[in-house]
Amino acid sequence: MAAPGLLPGVGRLIEMPAALGRLSRAYSKSHAFTEVLQLPKMELTKLVFPLQELQRHLLPDAKPDLLQLRIFDPSLEAIARAESFFTATPRNRIEYVSSAVRLDHAPDLPRPEVCFIGRSNVGKSSLIKALFSLAPEVEVRVSKTPGHTKKMNFFKVGKYFTLVDMPGYGYRAPEDFVDMVETYLKERKNLLRTFLLVDSVVGIQKADNIAIEMCEDFALPYVMVLTKIDKPSKGRLLKQVLEIQKFVDTKTQGCFPQLFPVSAMTYSGIHLLRCFIATITGNLKTN
Ligand code: GDP
Repeated sequence: MAAPGLLPGVGRLIEMPAALGRLSRAYSKSHAFTEVLQLPKMELTKLVFPLQELQRHLLPDAKPDLLQLRIFDPSLEAIARAESFFTATPRNRIEYVSSAVRLDHAPDLPRPEVCFIGRSNVGKSSLIKALFSLAPEVEVRVSKTPGHTKKMNFFKVGKYFTLVDMPGYGYRAPEDFVDMVETYLKERKNLLRTFLLVDSVVGIQKADNIAIEMCEDFALPYVMVLTKIDKPSKGRLLKQVLEIQKFVDTKTQGCFPQLFPVSAMTYSGIHLLRCFIATITGNLKTN
Protein backbone atom coordinates (compact mmCIF):
# COMPACT_ATOMS: atom_id res chain seq x y z
CA MET A 1 0.00 0.00 0.00
CA ALA A 2 1.37 3.38 -0.89
CA ALA A 3 1.34 6.23 1.57
CA PRO A 4 0.01 8.94 -0.74
CA GLY A 5 -3.57 9.79 0.14
CA LEU A 6 -3.14 9.12 3.85
CA LEU A 7 -3.41 12.75 4.70
CA PRO A 8 -5.89 14.50 2.46
CA GLY A 9 -5.87 18.26 2.55
CA VAL A 10 -2.28 18.40 3.68
CA GLY A 11 -1.68 21.21 1.19
CA ARG A 12 -3.64 23.56 3.42
CA LEU A 13 -1.05 23.14 6.16
CA ILE A 14 1.81 24.26 4.02
CA GLU A 15 2.93 27.80 3.53
CA MET A 16 4.55 27.61 0.14
CA PRO A 17 7.96 29.20 0.32
CA ALA A 18 8.71 31.92 -2.18
CA ALA A 19 12.35 31.08 -2.69
CA LEU A 20 13.78 27.62 -2.26
CA GLY A 21 17.34 28.73 -1.68
CA ARG A 22 19.83 25.89 -1.83
CA LEU A 23 22.82 25.57 0.44
CA SER A 24 25.68 27.50 -1.02
CA ARG A 25 28.10 25.35 -2.96
CA ALA A 26 31.00 26.35 -0.71
CA TYR A 27 29.38 24.69 2.31
CA SER A 28 27.63 21.77 0.67
CA LYS A 29 30.79 19.70 0.33
CA SER A 30 32.11 20.64 3.74
CA HIS A 31 32.72 17.63 5.95
CA ALA A 32 34.14 19.38 9.00
CA PHE A 33 31.59 20.23 11.62
CA THR A 34 33.70 23.18 12.79
CA GLU A 35 32.99 24.74 9.37
CA VAL A 36 29.31 23.91 9.66
CA LEU A 37 29.21 25.79 12.96
CA GLN A 38 30.36 28.95 11.12
CA LEU A 39 27.29 28.94 8.86
CA PRO A 40 24.58 31.60 9.19
CA LYS A 41 21.83 30.30 11.49
CA MET A 42 19.30 29.48 8.76
CA GLU A 43 21.78 27.57 6.65
CA LEU A 44 23.02 25.72 9.70
CA THR A 45 19.47 24.68 10.65
CA LYS A 46 18.78 23.54 7.10
CA LEU A 47 21.95 21.46 7.04
CA VAL A 48 21.86 20.00 10.54
CA PHE A 49 18.15 19.93 11.44
CA PRO A 50 16.27 19.59 8.15
CA LEU A 51 12.98 18.67 9.86
CA GLN A 52 13.07 21.84 11.91
CA GLU A 53 13.73 23.85 8.81
CA LEU A 54 10.74 22.22 7.10
CA GLN A 55 8.54 22.96 10.09
CA ARG A 56 9.03 26.68 9.47
CA HIS A 57 6.88 26.27 6.38
CA LEU A 58 3.88 24.92 8.24
CA LEU A 59 1.16 27.49 8.79
CA PRO A 60 1.02 28.67 12.42
CA ASP A 61 -2.38 27.06 13.02
CA ALA A 62 -1.26 23.63 11.77
CA LYS A 63 -1.38 21.13 14.60
CA PRO A 64 2.13 20.87 16.06
CA ASP A 65 1.62 17.21 16.94
CA LEU A 66 1.53 16.32 13.24
CA LEU A 67 5.29 16.34 13.27
CA GLN A 68 6.96 14.64 16.19
CA LEU A 69 9.90 16.86 15.70
CA ARG A 70 12.00 17.02 18.77
CA ILE A 71 12.27 13.59 20.31
CA PHE A 72 15.90 13.35 19.37
CA ASP A 73 17.14 16.91 19.63
CA PRO A 74 20.83 16.89 20.56
CA SER A 75 22.87 20.03 21.11
CA LEU A 76 25.31 21.18 18.44
CA GLU A 77 28.05 20.28 20.89
CA ALA A 78 26.81 16.66 21.08
CA ILE A 79 26.58 16.52 17.28
CA ALA A 80 30.17 17.78 17.08
CA ARG A 81 31.29 15.06 19.53
CA ALA A 82 29.52 12.38 17.47
CA GLU A 83 31.71 13.25 14.49
CA SER A 84 34.75 11.76 16.22
CA PHE A 85 33.20 8.26 16.13
CA PHE A 86 32.97 8.53 12.33
CA THR A 87 36.41 10.06 11.82
CA ALA A 88 39.06 7.57 10.78
CA THR A 89 42.33 7.85 12.71
CA PRO A 90 45.05 5.30 13.49
CA ARG A 91 43.29 4.71 16.82
CA ASN A 92 39.79 4.71 15.34
CA ARG A 93 39.88 2.36 12.41
CA ILE A 94 36.84 2.44 10.19
CA GLU A 95 36.94 -0.34 7.66
CA TYR A 96 35.12 -2.79 5.49
CA VAL A 97 35.27 -6.20 7.19
CA SER A 98 33.62 -8.71 4.85
CA SER A 99 30.52 -9.60 2.89
CA ALA A 100 28.09 -12.47 3.28
CA VAL A 101 25.22 -13.98 1.34
CA ARG A 102 24.02 -16.00 4.31
CA LEU A 103 23.76 -15.19 7.96
CA ASP A 104 26.01 -18.10 8.91
CA HIS A 105 28.74 -16.51 6.77
CA ALA A 106 28.41 -13.18 8.56
CA PRO A 107 31.44 -12.09 10.59
CA ASP A 108 31.24 -12.71 14.29
CA LEU A 109 31.55 -9.16 15.59
CA PRO A 110 30.72 -8.50 19.22
CA ARG A 111 29.80 -4.81 18.90
CA PRO A 112 26.27 -3.49 18.59
CA GLU A 113 25.13 -3.52 14.98
CA VAL A 114 23.00 -1.15 12.91
CA CYS A 115 21.79 -2.09 9.44
CA PHE A 116 20.56 -0.12 6.44
CA ILE A 117 17.87 -1.53 4.21
CA GLY A 118 15.96 -0.06 1.28
CA ARG A 119 14.76 -0.51 -2.28
CA SER A 120 17.36 -0.59 -5.03
CA ASN A 121 18.10 2.97 -6.08
CA VAL A 122 16.76 4.51 -2.87
CA GLY A 123 20.18 6.09 -2.27
CA LYS A 124 21.56 3.60 0.25
CA SER A 125 25.15 3.43 -1.03
CA SER A 126 25.22 7.21 -1.37
CA LEU A 127 23.96 7.64 2.20
CA ILE A 128 26.51 5.18 3.62
CA LYS A 129 29.27 6.94 1.66
CA ALA A 130 28.11 10.26 3.13
CA LEU A 131 28.09 8.83 6.66
CA PHE A 132 31.64 7.58 6.03
CA SER A 133 32.87 10.79 4.40
CA LEU A 134 35.15 11.37 7.41
CA ALA A 135 36.78 8.02 6.62
CA PRO A 136 37.53 8.46 2.91
CA GLU A 137 39.50 5.22 2.71
CA VAL A 138 36.36 3.16 3.29
CA GLU A 139 35.12 1.65 0.09
CA VAL A 140 31.37 1.25 -0.06
CA ARG A 141 30.83 -1.54 -2.52
CA VAL A 142 28.06 -1.22 -5.02
CA SER A 143 26.74 -4.25 -6.88
CA LYS A 144 24.10 -3.18 -9.30
CA THR A 145 24.58 -5.65 -12.11
CA PRO A 146 21.33 -7.52 -12.72
CA GLY A 147 21.65 -11.20 -11.89
CA HIS A 148 24.62 -10.71 -9.59
CA THR A 149 24.01 -11.93 -6.10
CA LYS A 150 23.89 -9.02 -3.74
CA LYS A 151 25.52 -9.32 -0.37
CA MET A 152 25.37 -7.98 3.11
CA ASN A 153 28.46 -5.80 3.65
CA PHE A 154 29.89 -5.37 7.13
CA PHE A 155 31.83 -2.27 8.23
CA LYS A 156 33.58 -1.87 11.54
CA VAL A 157 33.42 1.60 13.08
CA GLY A 158 36.30 1.75 15.54
CA LYS A 159 35.59 -0.20 18.68
CA TYR A 160 32.12 1.24 18.77
CA PHE A 161 29.72 -0.53 16.43
CA THR A 162 29.24 -2.37 13.13
CA LEU A 163 27.32 -0.90 10.22
CA VAL A 164 25.73 -3.35 7.79
CA ASP A 165 24.79 -2.43 4.25
CA MET A 166 21.99 -4.83 3.25
CA PRO A 167 21.22 -5.69 -0.38
CA GLY A 168 18.61 -3.50 -2.05
CA TYR A 169 15.19 -5.00 -2.57
CA GLY A 170 12.49 -4.61 -5.17
CA TYR A 171 13.23 -4.59 -8.87
CA ARG A 172 16.28 -6.73 -9.71
CA ALA A 173 16.53 -8.18 -6.22
CA PRO A 174 17.71 -11.77 -6.18
CA GLU A 175 15.04 -14.34 -5.46
CA ASP A 176 16.64 -15.38 -2.24
CA PHE A 177 16.76 -11.79 -1.05
CA VAL A 178 13.86 -12.07 1.37
CA ASP A 179 15.34 -15.24 2.87
CA MET A 180 18.69 -13.56 3.40
CA VAL A 181 17.36 -10.32 4.84
CA GLU A 182 14.58 -11.99 6.78
CA THR A 183 16.97 -14.42 8.47
CA TYR A 184 19.39 -11.63 9.30
CA LEU A 185 16.70 -9.38 10.76
CA LYS A 186 15.13 -12.23 12.70
CA GLU A 187 18.24 -13.92 14.03
CA ARG A 188 21.13 -11.47 14.26
CA LYS A 189 21.69 -11.30 18.00
CA ASN A 190 23.52 -7.96 18.21
CA LEU A 191 21.30 -6.10 15.75
CA LEU A 192 20.37 -2.96 17.62
CA ARG A 193 18.51 -0.83 15.09
CA THR A 194 17.40 -1.09 11.48
CA PHE A 195 17.44 2.02 9.30
CA LEU A 196 14.80 1.70 6.62
CA LEU A 197 15.33 4.07 3.72
CA VAL A 198 12.43 5.66 1.86
CA ASP A 199 12.89 7.87 -1.19
CA SER A 200 11.47 11.32 -0.38
CA VAL A 201 10.67 11.88 -4.05
CA VAL A 202 8.20 8.99 -4.32
CA GLY A 203 7.31 8.19 -0.69
CA ILE A 204 6.46 4.74 0.63
CA GLN A 205 6.20 2.22 -2.19
CA LYS A 206 4.79 -1.30 -2.33
CA ALA A 207 8.26 -2.85 -1.93
CA ASP A 208 8.92 -0.66 1.11
CA ASN A 209 5.86 -2.15 2.77
CA ILE A 210 7.45 -5.61 2.60
CA ALA A 211 10.38 -4.33 4.63
CA ILE A 212 8.10 -2.40 7.00
CA GLU A 213 6.02 -5.54 7.57
CA MET A 214 9.17 -7.57 8.25
CA CYS A 215 10.33 -5.09 10.89
CA GLU A 216 6.86 -4.97 12.44
CA ASP A 217 6.39 -8.77 12.39
CA PHE A 218 9.75 -9.34 14.09
CA ALA A 219 9.06 -6.50 16.54
CA LEU A 220 12.34 -4.84 15.55
CA PRO A 221 13.08 -1.27 16.54
CA TYR A 222 13.58 0.61 13.26
CA VAL A 223 13.95 4.14 11.99
CA MET A 224 12.68 5.66 8.77
CA VAL A 225 15.24 7.70 6.86
CA LEU A 226 13.99 9.85 3.98
CA THR A 227 16.61 10.07 1.25
CA LYS A 228 17.35 12.59 -1.52
CA ILE A 229 15.63 15.51 0.20
CA ASP A 230 17.47 17.95 -2.05
CA LYS A 231 15.46 16.63 -5.00
CA PRO A 232 11.77 17.41 -4.47
CA SER A 233 10.48 20.97 -4.15
CA LYS A 234 10.07 22.20 -0.58
CA GLY A 235 6.27 21.91 -0.81
CA ARG A 236 6.41 18.38 -2.20
CA LEU A 237 8.94 17.34 0.45
CA LEU A 238 6.81 18.73 3.25
CA LYS A 239 3.79 16.86 1.90
CA GLN A 240 5.78 13.59 1.81
CA VAL A 241 7.14 14.18 5.32
CA LEU A 242 3.66 14.80 6.71
CA GLU A 243 2.22 11.74 4.96
CA ILE A 244 5.03 9.47 6.07
CA GLN A 245 4.86 10.87 9.62
CA LYS A 246 1.14 10.12 9.67
CA PHE A 247 1.86 6.61 8.43
CA VAL A 248 4.47 6.08 11.17
CA ASP A 249 2.10 7.46 13.83
CA THR A 250 -0.93 5.42 12.81
CA LYS A 251 0.33 2.27 11.12
CA THR A 252 3.52 1.25 12.87
CA GLN A 253 4.55 0.13 16.32
CA GLY A 254 8.29 -0.46 16.17
CA CYS A 255 9.21 2.60 14.13
CA PHE A 256 10.98 5.45 15.91
CA PRO A 257 8.47 8.31 15.87
CA GLN A 258 10.89 10.85 14.44
CA LEU A 259 11.80 10.78 10.76
CA PHE A 260 15.36 11.40 9.59
CA PRO A 261 15.40 13.31 6.30
CA VAL A 262 18.81 13.28 4.59
CA SER A 263 20.60 14.25 1.42
CA ALA A 264 23.82 12.58 0.39
CA MET A 265 24.25 15.43 -2.06
CA THR A 266 24.09 18.44 0.29
CA TYR A 267 24.87 16.47 3.51
CA SER A 268 21.67 17.78 5.02
CA GLY A 269 20.68 15.57 7.98
CA ILE A 270 23.91 13.52 7.85
CA HIS A 271 25.46 15.00 11.02
CA LEU A 272 22.24 14.44 12.98
CA LEU A 273 22.03 10.84 11.77
CA ARG A 274 25.64 10.21 12.82
CA CYS A 275 24.82 11.63 16.24
CA PHE A 276 21.72 9.42 16.51
CA ILE A 277 23.73 6.30 15.62
CA ALA A 278 26.49 7.20 18.11
CA THR A 279 23.81 7.72 20.77
CA ILE A 280 21.73 4.57 20.26
CA THR A 281 24.82 2.37 20.10
CA GLY A 282 25.58 3.56 23.62
CA ASN A 283 28.70 5.51 22.73
CA LEU A 284 27.51 9.07 23.19
CA LYS A 285 25.47 10.79 25.87
CA THR A 286 23.40 13.58 24.38
CA ASN A 287 21.88 14.92 27.58
P1 GDP B 1 21.21 2.42 -3.92
O1 GDP B 1 20.85 1.53 -5.07
O2 GDP B 1 20.12 2.45 -2.91
O3 GDP B 1 22.55 2.12 -3.31
O4 GDP B 1 21.25 3.91 -4.51
P2 GDP B 1 22.47 4.85 -4.91
O5 GDP B 1 23.15 5.38 -3.70
O6 GDP B 1 23.34 4.16 -5.90
O7 GDP B 1 21.67 6.04 -5.59
C1 GDP B 1 20.79 5.84 -6.67
C2 GDP B 1 20.73 7.12 -7.51
O8 GDP B 1 20.22 8.18 -6.73
C3 GDP B 1 22.10 7.56 -7.99
O9 GDP B 1 21.95 8.10 -9.29
C4 GDP B 1 22.50 8.64 -6.99
O10 GDP B 1 23.37 9.61 -7.54
C5 GDP B 1 21.15 9.25 -6.65
N1 GDP B 1 21.15 9.77 -5.28
C6 GDP B 1 21.45 9.09 -4.15
N2 GDP B 1 21.34 9.88 -3.07
C7 GDP B 1 20.97 11.10 -3.52
C8 GDP B 1 20.69 12.36 -2.89
O11 GDP B 1 20.75 12.52 -1.66
N3 GDP B 1 20.30 13.38 -3.69
C9 GDP B 1 20.19 13.24 -5.05
N4 GDP B 1 19.80 14.31 -5.75
N5 GDP B 1 20.44 12.09 -5.68
C10 GDP B 1 20.84 11.02 -4.93
